[in-house]
Amino acid sequence: MSKKVVIVGGGIIGTMHAVLALQEGYSVVQCERDLTPLSASMRNFGLIWVSGREVGTELELALRAREIWGEVGAKVPATGFRANGSLTIARNAAEMQVLEEANSLPDAKSRGFSLLTRAETHALEPVLAGDFIGALRCTQDAAAEPQFLLSALRDFLKSNENYQWVPNFEAMDFTHNESGNHVTDVKGTTLSGDLVVFCPGAFHKGFLSTFFVDAPVRRVRLQMAATVPLPEKIGHSLADGDSLRYYPAFKDLSLSALPPQPQVAAENYMQLLLVQRLDGTLTIGDTHEYVEPFGYEITEAPYEHLSSVISAIFGTSAPAIARRWDGIYSQSTGSELYFRKTIAPGAVVITGGGGRGNTISPAIAEETMIQWR
Ligand SMILES: Cc1cc2nc3c(=O)[nH]c(=O)nc-3n(C[C@H](O)[C@H](O)[C@H](O)COP(=O)(O)OP(=O)(O)OC[C@H]3O[C@@H](n4cnc5c(N)ncnc54)[C@H](O)[C@@H]3O)c2cc1C
Repeated sequence: MSKKVVIVGGGIIGTMHAVLALQEGYSVVQCERDLTPLSASMRNFGLIWVSGREVGTELELALRAREIWGEVGAKVPATGFRANGSLTIARNAAEMQVLEEANSLPDAKSRGFSLLTRAETHALEPVLAGDFIGALRCTQDAAAEPQFLLSALRDFLKSNENYQWVPNFEAMDFTHNESGNHVTDVKGTTLSGDLVVFCPGAFHKGFLSTFFVDAPVRRVRLQMAATVPLPEKIGHSLADGDSLRYYPAFKDLSLSALPPQPQVAAENYMQLLLVQRLDGTLTIGDTHEYVEPFGYEITEAPYEHLSSVISAIFGTSAPAIARRWDGIYSQSTGSELYFRKTIAPGAVVITGGGGRGNTISPAIAEETMIQWR
């Protein structure tokens, strides 16, 4: 009989574990405290972002994850996975200099980097008709549709008789004994398995808090927005030059020559990331709050700033903002790329993928499968 895995958490980390565990021949029960997952994995850009990853283990993990994303996306087209690539736009000479340096790095080829002039960028994406100098294209970057991703993967999983989805099950207790690992909810229902993976995202509290004492993880809050549909199509995901300040791939390049960020962008640790959804709307962001307690409000000024950046790059008014939301992710602050802690034989807590959690989720799940073999 196949070994049984209990997965706690219906976000992308838990769901990629379910996909890979079924593939490995385990039977899988996945529980989720909400009726449908509503956390970071639903609220993100859906980016599978290789371009900004630090050379070394982070880039290797991201490239492996990108391969698995391609396989999963081919099997489950309803995820909206597409190898659309990205363009990081330089609006001044200092940003262009950093892009040129990035394009000359030894790892540029593995990321699928190429440098484009303004004319080449405009030819590729006619909507980019504004005031900028050039762009760094990354063909390894990809995107999925966060609104459909988890439900599409669950529908795929449910077609396998060895998979069971248990929503509305908030794990409140965990025990390990000679018969295996057991997770119990508030109603006293217990799910048992040979193996248990807790993928709670940024829910570091509750009964799981004992596993997070002194753990090198923090929570980060982001504010996001979506515009009304844009009639024109934008194939690539876009980033502005401010993203160069935050992504570790660029940390050793000429960042000190970049002009200061506008005050609102600096205060909110902002960059522009933009991806067009399949319905034509643009998901745009983001801000970062690193210190708790977080604010509870969605603020106006950061998105006035982002709209002005979009207008400058497009050479026309940015589409109006139609919706706003925020989200919180869990981020490893230690030397590890994410947080993995064995809490009993065959039981592990995994979170802390940070702003790259969606990107690296399948590779994290694969590392678990390798440990179980
Ligand atoms: C606004 C925003 C934008 C982002 N953009 C990107 C991006 O474009 N690309 C990228 O790579 N990453 C991005 N990230 C990061 C990425 O979204 C996260 O790292 C990733 O989604 C985390 O997945 P997860 O499964 O660990 O957590 P979550 O998505 O938070 O899922 C955890 C799930 O566990 C459930 N749960 C928690 N406790 C229990 C319990 N006790 N019992 C049962 N269920 C429980 C929760 O209800 C939740 O559904 C972004 C994050 C945010 C917030």
